[in-house]
Amino acid sequence: MTQKKIGRQLVNIYLILFLTISITFAGEPQKPVNVILFIGDGMGMAQVYAAYTANHGFLNMFRCPYTGFSLTYPDSGYITDSGAGATAIACGVKTYNGAIGMNKDSLPCKTILEWAEDKGLSTGLVATSTITHATPASFIAHQKSRDDYEAIALDFLKTDIDVFIGGGSDHFMKRSDSINLLQQLKQKGYNVYLKPKSMQEVQGGKAAVFTADMHNPPVNEGRGSMLPDATEAAIRLLSKNPKGFFLMVEGSQIDWGGHSNDADYLVSEIIDLDHAIGKAFEFAEKNANTLIIITADHETGGMAVTEGNISEGTYQIKFTSINHTGIMVPVFAYGPGAENFTGVFENTALFDKIAKLLNISILCK
Ligand code: MG
Ligand code: ZN
Repeated sequence: MTQKKIGRQLVNIYLILFLTISITFAGEPQKPVNVILFIGDGMGMAQVYAAYTANHGFLNMFRCPYTGFSLTYPDSGYITDSGAGATAIACGVKTYNGAIGMNKDSLPCKTILEWAEDKGLSTGLVATSTITHATPASFIAHQKSRDDYEAIALDFLKTDIDVFIGGGSDHFMKRSDSINLLQQLKQKGYNVYLKPKSMQEVQGGKAAVFTADMHNPPVNEGRGSMLPDATEAAIRLLSKNPKGFFLMVEGSQIDWGGHSNDADYLVSEIIDLDHAIGKAFEFAEKNANTLIIITADHETGGMAVTEGNISEGTYQIKFTSINHTGIMVPVFAYGPGAENFTGVFENTALFDKIAKLLNISILCK
């Protein structure tokens, strides 16, 4: 081979190397730094469509370009409760009804919030029920029964959650063991707020915000914009961490409207949750490294939309049950990694997908 030929060969090798590296990096799927997970408790497809109709044909959640379905059945049985449903999403394991952050053998399972905390991300929970209720509790507590509210409240102190906002101060300060957990939260460095007039007041470091003694009232009975405001405040505090954050926001009372077969109640609660989703979109539009996921733990009420008028915002519905049903629920996703949330998958896959996107390697569940 002549000198010239060797030179050309080398140029070719360099070119191929350069092209391979560029293609590899260009093809690298985008990963989020921040994850905001919305759970509409009891929010099935009919509930979403009634809210879309009532809201004259607009929902923020429909801005998500990727959609899928989540299979909600628990470990043993066909119909999940909110404990097993949220634990499946939080820990990636199917478990028994009533479990809070526990696997089917009643052993604690590490939650995505705890994994995120270990990774140095900031973490938060927001709910319109008590913050100790099954859905938020399953992301932070480990109890055999969802009814052990005082034990669940104690579990909050065993973590380093950065922000939590919801009802339920009674479970922290009016306890059968007379321990004042608000005092302990302050000692741990939390700014503690009891029924703040405005979420603008809320400042971190760490913030524990109680908006009611027990559950907050329904949105149409005096709760006002608590949920969107709390979502905005949580994002404001959590986003100070350049390593990112994980936030779960629950529309807790959609389920209660379903149980009482009260369509106006559940529809108003979904529209309220959708306003909170709007706050997340406002943030994600300015912070492109943010993944938004919206889903439910199960459907409640066996609801159908039988008639309606989108321009007038009117609808007629029928319920077939006062309990949860087994039907799969929708998943909406927006932002880097959102393309992973398509198709039909187990509710536990929500954990697997989020963990993978946050570069959390799960050795065992
Ligand atoms: Mg709930
Ligand atoms: Zn329920």
